[in-house]
Amino acid sequence: MVVSEETREKIRQSKLGTHLSEETKAKLSKLRRGKRPSLETRIKLSIARRARVMPPISEETKAKIKASWTEERKAKTSAAMSARCGSLSHMWRGGVRTNPEGYVKIYCPSHPFCDGGGYVMEHRLVAERALGKYLDPKNVVHHINKNVADNRNENLVICEDDAYHKLIHKRMKEQHYAHKTDKQKKIWS
Ligand SMILES: [Zn+2]
Repeated sequence: MVVSEETREKIRQSKLGTHLSEETKAKLSKLRRGKRPSLETRIKLSIARRARVMPPISEETKAKIKASWTEERKAKTSAAMSARCGSLSHMWRGGVRTNPEGYVKIYCPSHPFCDGGGYVMEHRLVAERALGKYLDPKNVVHHINKNVADNRNENLVICEDDAYHKLIHKRMKEQHYAHKTDKQKKIWS
C-alpha cells in the first residue's frame, strides 16, 4: 500500500496534536515551513516521540486482538511482508549482502539463476561479465587467493564443474605441501 505524502502529513499532525502543546505545535509548524530542523531539535523530537506513553491494554482487549489474528489474516500478512523484497524491504542494504561463509551476493532479480530472494553470487556475475554469457549452474567459480570476498576478475577461475574445482583444490594442496617434510605433512594434513 502506498501512503501519499499528504496522508502521511495528516497522520503526523493528528499524532502530534494529541501530545503537544499549542506553543510546541506553533514552533514545529514554523520549523516545517523552513528547512530541516537542527540535529539538536531532531534529537529532542525523537526522544519526545519515544517517550509517548501508550494507554494500558486490558486482558480483555488483549484477548480480542489475539482472536482477531485468524490463520487467514496471518497468512495474508506474512505474504504481504515477504512481498516487501528488494528495495522495499527494511533489510535493504543497496542490494549487497555477505553470507555467513563470506561470499558476496548482489540483488539481481532478473537473473535466470538468482536465488529465492533475487540474489546472485557476485563472483558468478563477474565471471559472466568476462565470459559474455550466463554460467551454467553446474559451473563453479574458484577464488585463486582463497579469499571468497575478493571477486576481482583476475582472482577468478571458471571451472567446468565441481569435480574440476575439487581437482584444482587438490593440486593446490599438493603444491602447498610439496616442500614440506613427511613429518610436517602428517601434522598438517
Ligand atoms: Zn575454489
